[in-house]
Amino acid sequence: MPGRVALVIDDRLTAISFAPHPLKSKLMKRYKILMELLEKTSLIERVDFVKPEVANEIILREAHHLDYIDFIKMANAIGIGYVDKGETPIYRGMFEDSLYIVGATMTAGSIVVSGKYDHVFNPNGGHCHAKYLCASNYNIFNDVAILAKTLFRKYKWRILILDISGTHADGTQEILYSDPILKISIHRRDRIYGSARGGFYEIGDGRGYGYNINIPLPYEIGDDCFIEVFDELVVPIVESFRPQIIIFVAGQGGNMNDPIVGWELTYYSYINIAKKVHELSHKYSAGRLICLGGDGLNPWSTAMGWLFTLAELCKPLPEELEENINAIIGRWEPTTTNPAIYKKVRYIMVKIKNLIREIMGYG
Ligand SMILES: [Zn+2]
Repeated sequence: MPGRVALVIDDRLTAISFAPHPLKSKLMKRYKILMELLEKTSLIERVDFVKPEVANEIILREAHHLDYIDFIKMANAIGIGYVDKGETPIYRGMFEDSLYIVGATMTAGSIVVSGKYDHVFNPNGGHCHAKYLCASNYNIFNDVAILAKTLFRKYKWRILILDISGTHADGTQEILYSDPILKISIHRRDRIYGSARGGFYEIGDGRGYGYNINIPLPYEIGDDCFIEVFDELVVPIVESFRPQIIIFVAGQGGNMNDPIVGWELTYYSYINIAKKVHELSHKYSAGRLICLGGDGLNPWSTAMGWLFTLAELCKPLPEELEENINAIIGRWEPTTTNPAIYKKVRYIMVKIKNLIREIMGYG
């Protein structure tokens, strides 16, 4: 349906978070603000609400070991403690909630595959830190990997997972490391957040060799740098790969107002990148674009970034709606990156480009 976007959301989905209090309520606030902004800008008129379907637990096996699935079921029955080393609290109903999260992303997938909508957005999707055998960073099951595996098994498509959340998509990488599904993660590299992994030399193995592309970037990069990385590195890779479907994890963790990543990005980056991904989906993937919310701890900047992403997917917009969105965006200059940091990024870009050309055969 051109110009209309399916938004997978309901009261139950927006009440689920595996983070402890008070972080949990902060994360849930993002959805409330998104809904208010949709109303305020009247973009709600271009959005069709879709209720998620609960996933069948069998589907979890696409990406997780049976022992781990049983462990979560057992934890759910006990109802106290943590599923990891003290980060993610257990509660009764968490298994059912996990199935709802996976179900929402699978619903998003089926809507796009059916051709009913070109573009779909699930704000509570993109739990990309969950691994084959363990939970991580408040992510229990990896909806991204489950969807990608299912789609690949059924259609053998060239699938692209593009994650711009700013934290390494470590679970997705681990689960799909040997699968010929192209994974691009743009993230801040360090050993504090996410995992120690995420280096550009981790390029996949077996049938997945050359299908794992990490773009680790330092602290404090600005809009100029982020856009250059996207244009000069990501776009040529995607153009060579010609994805038949795109799973876009549109996390907003790199926003300058967000405490997660430590980048200096404004909405300028996120609006521009949403536009480029939208264009790529029409150019190569017959418009098939599944957008997932991903990370973002600042409720306001995350919801705003999601709103602009949704607005882009609804384009072309009538003049009045365009004006409403522009009024919220306001005006600002793109942030610039310190020359010393820029130099580091250019070095990383050259390394990755060489790797891609010489070893992987892209670009
Ligand atoms: Zn479109």
